[in-house]
Amino acid sequence: MKYISTRDNSLKVSSAEAIVRGLSPDGGLFVPEVIPHFASGELEKLAGLTYPQLAADIMGRYLEDFSADELKSYTDAAYCPGRYDSYDTAPVRKADGMYFLELWHGPTCAFKDMALQMLPYLLTASMKKCGEERTVCILVATSGDTGKAALEGFRDVPGTCIMVFYPVDGVSDIQKLQMASQQGGNVSVVSVNGNFDDAQTGVKRIFSSVDIAAKIADSGYVLSSANSINWGRLLPQIVYYIWTYLRLVNRGEVKMGDPVDFCVPTGNFGDILAGWYAKQMGLPVGRLICASNKNDVLTQFIETGVYDRNRPFFLTTSPSMDILISSNLERLLFHLSGFDSDLVAGYMKALSTEGKYVVCDDIMKSLRADFAAASLSEEDTAAAIREMWNSDGYLIDTHTAVAYGAAKGMVASASMVIVSTASPYKFSPAVIAALGHEPDGSGIGDLEKLESLTAVPAPAPLAGLKGAAVRFDSCVQPMEMEQSVLSWLC
Ligand SMILES: *Cc1c(COP(=O)(O)O)cnc(C)c1O
Repeated sequence: MKYISTRDNSLKVSSAEAIVRGLSPDGGLFVPEVIPHFASGELEKLAGLTYPQLAADIMGRYLEDFSADELKSYTDAAYCPGRYDSYDTAPVRKADGMYFLELWHGPTCAFKDMALQMLPYLLTASMKKCGEERTVCILVATSGDTGKAALEGFRDVPGTCIMVFYPVDGVSDIQKLQMASQQGGNVSVVSVNGNFDDAQTGVKRIFSSVDIAAKIADSGYVLSSANSINWGRLLPQIVYYIWTYLRLVNRGEVKMGDPVDFCVPTGNFGDILAGWYAKQMGLPVGRLICASNKNDVLTQFIETGVYDRNRPFFLTTSPSMDILISSNLERLLFHLSGFDSDLVAGYMKALSTEGKYVVCDDIMKSLRADFAAASLSEEDTAAAIREMWNSDGYLIDTHTAVAYGAAKGMVASASMVIVSTASPYKFSPAVIAALGHEPDGSGIGDLEKLESLTAVPAPAPLAGLKGAAVRFDSCVQPMEMEQSVLSWLC
């Protein structure tokens, strides 16, 4: 199976090449030419697999140039009990009549670990398969969670180095501390005086610069991405939708074949798009509900067909969703248009020149068949955290609360799974305030305060930040990002 670019459907590459390149040279994203489909009775057979076994099976269907044994050794290492604090990898928990898929039991306590513990294996193997001998330099723009998860995934991985850019005022204290204290001999962390989109635009500019590519090639490096524009990042996320469904079937909560709705706190549209791929594979998924915070560009798009980023940008208590340009939407539009790369390239051009595009009716019709959307205000997000704690004694983070509040506001038509994307301790001040208390004001202080308020233990990787030394404290303007890369590598 080949991968094709969303902006040029005549460009076809192997899965290994798609993973090495990250982004297509035309600026497009790679998608699988064919989405594999479960044969009848096949899902039942997967129900007894462990998480690493299921992950190897599902990814193998998309990765022709990897053997089953190879993939199994990667998933065993990526999702092993030493890296995950839960035997289950991704536990599914019931509260308030819904199911919460907890994706934050990995080393950085956010769902990005699900993909970024896996990506280094896929990427370094893909490079070997492509005969690439240079050191790969991973560039990441992060709204907080990706950066730390990528640093942790790539730290000290031979043949790689990683540089992370984050918006200086766009991440929480704990996230900042997590990144600034990162260990490893092949890592660098830089904050950008701007918002997430400035950082992401800067990274995209570096990727498309022929000049920079030539300069770093001279020093023995090649660039790649760990953002969710990389197929190797998206693919591992398909697994947990299938996993959740099978867990619910195994427990007798859902009958095999009955649809399940997923409500996903959405930013760059990677997580929810993985759910769409799972549905295309034949997983019985009803609605995919795209939940947004006050930055509701996606909600308005799904309702109106107009994607318009010309709007105020808000910093919210769910910063990983503070995004105006959702990159992975491009993949969905490309699939729904029947691989019409001219059409998609036109939309993306309009987005970069006018900040806006209007999608044709046919695409919107198919899009609305699978997706619904809702956005939640800051007040309602806080209320969702408080109500869940008071009614069920279940502590959820701000992002999960956006999805939970959004799902609660919709008429139920099937079992509802809330995709829970972060430990509440990553966003302690907002969670403390939501519970009606005054935050302490420091990252570690708030972590301890939330622990004493709720008696819910903080995850070890966050509790361990107490007393951690800061290694990285530089801050640059968006236009200085190129220079940061060059001076680090050359
Ligand atoms: C990244 C992130 C999201 C958004 O996921 P996308 O794939 O970008 O849509 C939601 N919640 C948390 C905690 C995240 O880190």
